[in-house]
Amino acid sequence: MKKSSVLLIYTGGTIGMVQNARTGALESFNFEHLMQQIPEIELFNLNISAVSFNPPIDSSDMSPAHWQELVQIISDNYNVYDGFVVLHGTDTMAFTASAMSFMLENIMKPVIFTGSQLPVGALRTDGKENLITAIEIAAAKNADGTPAVPEVCIYFANKLLRGNRCTKRDAGSFDAFVSNNYPPLATAGTTITYNHCYIRPYNEKATLTPQYHMEQGIIIFSLFPGIKEDVVKAVLRSNEIKGVIFRTFGAGNAPQAKWLIEELARASSEGKIIINITQCAGGSVEMERYETGRQLIEAGVVSGNDSTVEAALTKLMYLLGKGLPTDTIRRLMGCNISGEISAPEKP
Ligand code: ASP
Repeated sequence: MKKSSVLLIYTGGTIGMVQNARTGALESFNFEHLMQQIPEIELFNLNISAVSFNPPIDSSDMSPAHWQELVQIISDNYNVYDGFVVLHGTDTMAFTASAMSFMLENIMKPVIFTGSQLPVGALRTDGKENLITAIEIAAAKNADGTPAVPEVCIYFANKLLRGNRCTKRDAGSFDAFVSNNYPPLATAGTTITYNHCYIRPYNEKATLTPQYHMEQGIIIFSLFPGIKEDVVKAVLRSNEIKGVIFRTFGAGNAPQAKWLIEELARASSEGKIIINITQCAGGSVEMERYETGRQLIEAGVVSGNDSTVEAALTKLMYLLGKGLPTDTIRRLMGCNISGEISAPEKP
């Protein structure tokens, strides 16, 4: 039987960093150094190849241009490899994984993001286990030969999570990621247990259709008690802004101040797309539940359902990037496009 093949894509992040002798700070280092620290990779009965960003970066420097580079690498190699492992810093991993779930439209192969909280050169590193298990998952097949996990995921600290359902929740713990509104797709103990009912079903007819353009005229705007009218106006009236990820209280509630509702209604009528996302770590927006939410519907605000901020942001960047009509984007923000929200699928 033909060996499975996996492409490792090294973008940077703590996993491959070394300490600067002068400042003591961790800095990105080259891929050869990373591989020397993990000779165990040779033990896999797989064909493993690797490519690296040049230079590798701290993920705080990630941008849509880097996302395009990643989409290009994966789509150029899509027919050659059975799966992909992306080594990425943890700080913005949930943003990149969410972006990939939309930009790699119709992906039907595993794209597994991983990284670590301690560099692979450190004695107590979490990087080796994360990388080795991520490779195993990227190569895993069902009995019928189809990929076990045909979607974009994050593997970290023994859990495989859907990429567009994750958030970095802890800057220090090895268990850095959480998926509050969707169960793990797999857990790794002595064996890897796949939760097949939560994994996106394989569709042999789906054809990868890479999308490269992401609209950047978007802001994440968080409410707080005492927010000033002039500040809200400065944001919502800006000509640069095409979309707003509006982080509200609880089940999608906002103050009932007349000026706020009028500003939101004005921005919506100008074609700006305002998506309501809760500030809570888990749960969903239900704007019909309280009067403080219902008034937002009348102001043209669209529910982001139970989306993470990362998924709502990158989904809006992607839909605006496609140049779709405003009404279509508003409708699609409420549909499940790539497993990112608990709503019916796009018709
Ligand atoms: N600052 C690092 C990064 O995101 C943190 C990490 O990799 O864990 O690249």
